[in-house]
Amino acid sequence: EEKDYQMMLRTRNPGGFIPPQLYLALDRLASDYGNETIRATTRQGFQMHGILKKNLKPAITAIVQNMGSTLGACGDLNRNVMAPPAPFKKKPEYRHALTYADRIADLLTPQSGAYYEVWLDGEKAISGEPAPEVKAALATDLNRTIFPGDPEPLYGTQYMPRKFKIAITVPGDNSIDIFSQDLGLVVITNAKGQLLGFNVYAGGGLGRTHNKEETFARIADPIGYVTKANIYDLVKAIVATQRDYGDRTNRRHARMKYLIHDWGVAKFKAKVEEYYGKKIQPLKQLPAFKYLDFLGWHEQGDGKLFLGISVVNGRIKDDGDFKLRTALREIVQTYKIPMRVTPHQNVLIYDIKPADRDKIDKILIANGVEPDPTKIDTLVRYSMACPALPTCGLAVTESERVAPSVNERFRALLDKLGLPDEQFVIRMTGCPNGCARPYMAEVGFVGSFPESYQVWLAGCPAQTRLAQVYTDRMHINDLETFFTPILEYFKRDRKPDEGFGDFCNRVGLASIREVCKH
Ligand code: SF4
Repeated sequence: EEKDYQMMLRTRNPGGFIPPQLYLALDRLASDYGNETIRATTRQGFQMHGILKKNLKPAITAIVQNMGSTLGACGDLNRNVMAPPAPFKKKPEYRHALTYADRIADLLTPQSGAYYEVWLDGEKAISGEPAPEVKAALATDLNRTIFPGDPEPLYGTQYMPRKFKIAITVPGDNSIDIFSQDLGLVVITNAKGQLLGFNVYAGGGLGRTHNKEETFARIADPIGYVTKANIYDLVKAIVATQRDYGDRTNRRHARMKYLIHDWGVAKFKAKVEEYYGKKIQPLKQLPAFKYLDFLGWHEQGDGKLFLGISVVNGRIKDDGDFKLRTALREIVQTYKIPMRVTPHQNVLIYDIKPADRDKIDKILIANGVEPDPTKIDTLVRYSMACPALPTCGLAVTESERVAPSVNERFRALLDKLGLPDEQFVIRMTGCPNGCARPYMAEVGFVGSFPESYQVWLAGCPAQTRLAQVYTDRMHINDLETFFTPILEYFKRDRKPDEGFGDFCNRVGLASIREVCKH
């Protein structure tokens, strides 16, 4: 008899869009086949853990029958395409970002019917056909980016050398961590909100391996600007460049960031232009990026409201008096409203009538869930941790299960040091793969040994700067003794209003080591 292998299942939902029917299906599956929890991921999908291999088929069938999919959420191909989760109806740039997240996801979806043959006995999804312009883009042979007649015209027989990550955002909004993506696009509109084109960034990626210097976290480089009419050709050209020149011999060196690092941006751009057949235009000027989490109540612009709900480390569960899973089920069942998963592992529910606002608040509060983000400790609000133990096979040590106590210990330490109102972005992962993007945090913990972490400092709240490694091994029990001298130095020498990450970046890690005798 076959062993009871436990599997993880992850949904594909560009921009984090989850229709009510799909959410309720996932909630049922978490009980029927999963571990009674649903996990929001840092790529705006949902994951379910603990599904036995024999139950995968009914679980995937249920997801597809309820307007979802898992196609391309894992594997060496384009992963879930991200977009800012805020459902602003009167801000056209947000609409464009979501629309193009959908279309580019369709463009880069495997075309072969294998998924449906394996999981759905050949039945196609009911979630709709790609837009005609996407179909046309897939059929257009552009300087050999397409293999006509191949069941996978863009991916070919070998798919990509490694996973490929794309996010699309709007000027000023870095909710999607654009610099950590293989390919980042920013929508550019005219004053009337009509879409003109996209600024393009490429070559970000955070996964690395301890003690392997040839692997590293890297932030994306600006590539240039393309018009709306050319966006599919440009995306195809970049994907094809990585497809044909990305390293297929060493998986640790296979992400596109290494190709761009090894070649330099100029050579990469020249090769992309060869496939693209045109020159890429210079980047458009943009305002500075900010990190936005959209928690709390907001107007969406059409008379309705949305509510961003903090989900600590993305885990939707019932645990004692805290019954987030029950609350969300009741709200989605009663009001039939959709949801967007955020890149910060939170959820936004939207299309809410103002008359229902108080009733929704009451449901949350009755189930022990705080709807008001100003009542949540800022360290908790802005922190993230990956699942790690016990569900992730790559974990070296704990992450999600110890992160709440790490936040509490930091808060107690800040209080003790006379920094009670201080906040900074803490991110933790159980291994260097970096799923919770710790290398962009102001304080990043990356599991390096059991109960021990590499510590990264000097990222910034807007997630526009890579952090730097400060030490390779800090035992979690030593957190207070380790950080006390660093925070004392910060308190003494910070500039007015300077945040912790900016301080570390300004004085430099060497100076911190010297002052703190680390
Ligand atoms: Fe697993 Fe590592 Fe990703 Fe955490 S960072 S979920 S331990 S692969």
